[in-house]
Amino acid sequence: MSAVSSTPGDTPDSPAEFYETDAQKLAVATAEALLGAAEGGIPIGAALFSADGRLLGSGHNRRVQDHDASMHAETNAFRNAGRQQSYRGTVMVTTLSPCWYCSGLVRQFGISRVIVGDDLTFRGGQEWLAENGVDITVVNNEALIAMMGEFVELNPRLWNEDIGTD
Ligand SMILES: [Zn+2]
Repeated sequence: MSAVSSTPGDTPDSPAEFYETDAQKLAVATAEALLGAAEGGIPIGAALFSADGRLLGSGHNRRVQDHDASMHAETNAFRNAGRQQSYRGTVMVTTLSPCWYCSGLVRQFGISRVIVGDDLTFRGGQEWLAENGVDITVVNNEALIAMMGEFVELNPRLWNEDIGTD
C-alpha cells in the first residue's frame, strides 16, 4: 500500500505518522483484523485517527484472546489511544459495521466520523449514528467481506456469541 508503517496495537512514538486517505486508514484496521485472526480470535480490527490523520491507537477484537466480551475492535483501539482532550474531528475506522455498543462509544465521546470496511456481513448502529450527525463512509471492501463471510461460516457459534444472538 503506502509508505506508512506502524505496529498494530501500539500508539506510535514521534515523529507522528499521517494517514491521509481512507484507504490508508482502512489498511491499519485491516492489519489489526489479520493480527486478530492469526491469534485465533475474531478477525475485526479498528483504528482511531486524529482530524489531521495521525494514528492515535489501533486494536482488534479480543473476546477469545482475553476472555473479554467487552473488548471489541473499536473499544480496543479506543483504549489504546489513551486519553484525548477532545474527540471532535476524530475518525474511527473499523473493518466491520459498529455494533450498538461501539456505536454508543462513538456518540458518547463525540467521534466525528466512522469509516466502515464491511456492512454487508453485519450492520449495527451506523444508520443511527448518521441520523445523529456522525459522518459515515461505507467502503464494502471485497477482501474484508470475503474474510468475514468465511469466518462466520466456519465459526457460527463464536460469531453468534460476539453479536449477542442466541
Ligand atoms: Zn462493537
